[in-house]
Amino acid sequence: MKSIQPDRAKGTRCVHEGQRMDEYRGINTPIYTSTSYGYLDTDDRLYPRYFNIPNQKVIIEKLASLENAETGLIFSSGMAAVSTTLLSFLSQGDHCIFQNGLYGGTLHFVNEEFNRFGIEYSVLKSNDMQSFRTALRPNTRIIYIESPSNPLLSIVDLEQVSDLCRKAKCISVIDNTFASPINQNPIDFGIDIVIHSATKYLGGHSDICAGAVLSGKKYIERITRSSLSFGGSLNSFMCYLLERSIKTLEIRVGKQNRNAMEIAEFLDKRPEVDVVYYPGLSSHKGHDVAIKQMTGFGGMLSFELKDPDITAFQKRLQLIKPAMSLGGVESTICAPVTTSHRLVSKKEREEEGIRDNLLRLSVGIENTGDLIRDLKQALERT
Ligand code: PLP
Repeated sequence: MKSIQPDRAKGTRCVHEGQRMDEYRGINTPIYTSTSYGYLDTDDRLYPRYFNIPNQKVIIEKLASLENAETGLIFSSGMAAVSTTLLSFLSQGDHCIFQNGLYGGTLHFVNEEFNRFGIEYSVLKSNDMQSFRTALRPNTRIIYIESPSNPLLSIVDLEQVSDLCRKAKCISVIDNTFASPINQNPIDFGIDIVIHSATKYLGGHSDICAGAVLSGKKYIERITRSSLSFGGSLNSFMCYLLERSIKTLEIRVGKQNRNAMEIAEFLDKRPEVDVVYYPGLSSHKGHDVAIKQMTGFGGMLSFELKDPDITAFQKRLQLIKPAMSLGGVESTICAPVTTSHRLVSKKEREEEGIRDNLLRLSVGIENTGDLIRDLKQALERT
């Protein structure tokens, strides 16, 4: 299922890759509503939960092409993609390494479920390569990273992680949600498996919940075997909506990159702001590595407000909406402590460096000047 248009630029592939035309020659992929398909005179056994119906195939061809992967799977949420992938490879007695600073839902899943299944795991205190090396055990099966991470935009060196995995004979997995396939293609740096919460940039309009896994055929075949039983497939209507959204992915993410850079520079100079976390800033710890492995720094940034009343600040915003989730065309802001990381203990949050005055901004595609004016008036009234 490798890209049929590998020589075309990403923006072109966003629009055209994977799409199907029926006998009426409508230019949009038809929505195949059936859950029941004929089986005589064919070896195909099409069924939504088998991850093989037409609209699922379309979206996977498009995403596999954008991530330079051989193939993939489309799920009903990002967490279905994360949990199914991990549980497809990990068995009792295996060990998994998680980088420092992960999406709270992933950390919660690991803390809640792994002990019950006798799966060992280490969550790193720091993301330098020595910490990854020290955490390795003879039974380590997976190293799992998220770069840039949610919410502190930590950057991990993809090439070094994939080298380490190859030497240690374990599988490298990345959650590439924050970067999107427009800004970063981890497979090009040797990473084995790429995961997305498609609810974010791929959907892009805050109206789709989905997840995706992209990789080589060998790994996808293994994940598919577990997926059939875990059952987290996505229906045709949502696949179609996602296909439509991805057509504009490159222009949306391009604008979000530019907006976020300007806003990060603006916030960085403000006396009301303590720290700005954005990989595009030269002051960011991961800036040099980000330049090496990303083609854009993304639309996500976080900052610590000096005033501890971050709720009052969010209420003063007139354009930017205080709301959970991220990656939509509209700018949204939230406090990780009470949203993405509310199920993570205070101790673990502190170990990750997530403070109570941290705000995470998902920058949309609006006019940059309007966004900066909104932040300015809210800061000036602190
Ligand atoms: N990965 C990251 C980085 C996320 O931010 C999220 C959700 O916020 C997820 C995974 C989980 O995705 P979903 O909410 O689609 O299950």
